[in-house]
Amino acid sequence: MERTLVILKPGALQRGLVGEIISRFEKRGLKLVAMKMRQLDQEILDKHYAHLKDKPFFPWLCSGMTAAPVILCCWEGFEAVKVVRAMAGTTNARNAAPGTIRGDYALSSQENVVHTSDSVENAKEELDRFFSAEDYCEYPSPLNQFLYAPDEK
Ligand code: UDP
Ligand code: MG
Repeated sequence: MERTLVILKPGALQRGLVGEIISRFEKRGLKLVAMKMRQLDQEILDKHYAHLKDKPFFPWLCSGMTAAPVILCCWEGFEAVKVVRAMAGTTNARNAAPGTIRGDYALSSQENVVHTSDSVENAKEELDRFFSAEDYCEYPSPLNQFLYAPDEK
């Protein structure tokens, strides 16, 4: 099964959307395998958003991401990276389809309530950045036979 990182951004926490957003991933059938709350700092954002460091909005993005703590989650499932990314919707929330998290809960290209990994490779790198081995919990998945065909793993 694939694993992906979701960050519930400071706006999700402040606006009381944490339960709502986590609930969406749970109801979809994804498995929560690690979760923690953390105050991010500039050092980790320089790495996490390295692809954006030359953008004019980078300082605003970082102040938004440090304005309150975040919730870090690792979700597991068959093709979880693309499934979760699609659930988040497009970066600019004003263009995000209704029914996506951003399309239902956000109006901004910056303040868009969630981060989701954009590829399997980046998911691995991002998960290693925010979680260590002991953060992950192993537990049975008794409903998998009702969620997946035998070759979907
Ligand atoms: N962002 C922004 N303005 C932009 C593009 C991105 O403020 O024009 C912020 C936004 O919060 C976004 C984050 O930078 O979620 C990371 O950008 P990326 O292109 O990786 O988008 P994402 O993968 O989050 O959809
Ligand atoms: Mg991204």
